[in-house]
Amino acid sequence: QAAKAAQSRVAYYDRSMDRDKSEQLIMLGELTTALETDQLQLHYQPQIDLTTMTVVGVEALLRWHHPNGTVLSPSTFLPTAERTGLIRPLTSYVLTQALAQRRQWMTDGLELSIAVNISTRNLFDDTLIEQVCTALKEFDCPPRRLTVEVTETSAMTDPIGATETLSILHAMGVQVAIDDYGTGYSSLAYIERLPVQELKIDRTFIGGMAHNPAHAAIVRSTVELARTLGLSVTAEGVEDEVTMTALRELRCGRAQGYHLGRPTSADRLPALVAELNAHLNTATGERIS
Ligand code: C2E
Ligand code: MG
Ligand code: MG
Ligand code: MG
Repeated sequence: QAAKAAQSRVAYYDRSMDRDKSEQLIMLGELTTALETDQLQLHYQPQIDLTTMTVVGVEALLRWHHPNGTVLSPSTFLPTAERTGLIRPLTSYVLTQALAQRRQWMTDGLELSIAVNISTRNLFDDTLIEQVCTALKEFDCPPRRLTVEVTETSAMTDPIGATETLSILHAMGVQVAIDDYGTGYSSLAYIERLPVQELKIDRTFIGGMAHNPAHAAIVRSTVELARTLGLSVTAEGVEDEVTMTALRELRCGRAQGYHLGRPTSADRLPALVAELNAHLNTATGERIS
């Protein structure tokens, strides 16, 4: 009886494994085609300097314009890319597209820094550094104008291994940011030792700071920590004016979020930046000193 039950459990388990595998294979096939046929596009979200109140850069965020007419967000397809190794050509594509776009904006008279996200697996890919070097050179990008964002969880998976790659990027002059800061389990000792220049405070804390004293305290102490360690700090997910004002009062360096601008297609980005700069300029005539 027990053996039979175990057997059917095994059979069930196997079938669901097969289903997962075949779903993943379909996704992998579609994603490979997507990469080859320009279904993947970068959108760009403005990042503003809270002292000068101007747009200083953008973060590149992937979107998949699926042939079925929907636009898929990265959380739906990145896990497959990460599991299957497709993340390598994907990241290479992102670096190339982002830096090519940055140069196009430069040509049009708009200078922006650009941030790209990389996955855990990219940190342990021998070709990453070469990909970054090639793209910087090809598109005349000064290394300090490129930020590589790696999540706190990625960096902490293997801090020693991650440090190797991040040190090389750092030595090249590329900026390294810890993304989603506060959601992982980083020991402060490691943050201090990692070759990073920037902390991006996760939006769960930013979104909560107006009404949750614990979140407000986390944001305040992170801004102070960053200042002490000589790191810059960006608040992610700023959704209203009250939060932006609170962040300025804390002397948080930079902000990003729907209140300032949503991720936008490359062709509409210059208009968004112009509008945002004009608005920030008139809205904040009074300086917080
Ligand atoms: P992330 O790097 O932390 O990016 C910020 C995410 O928050 C983006 O989601 C952005 O659209 C969203 N966001 C920005 N402002 C606000 C706001 O005010 N409120 C709310 N609720 N959300 C806001 P998105 O584009 O869906 O990307 C999700 C994650 O996928 C990113 O998180 C990043 O980890 C990853 N990702 C995106 N593009 C790439 C890529 O090209 N390569 C890799 N490896 N990962 C990527
Ligand atoms: Mg990011
Ligand atoms: Mg983030
Ligand atoms: Mg995230």
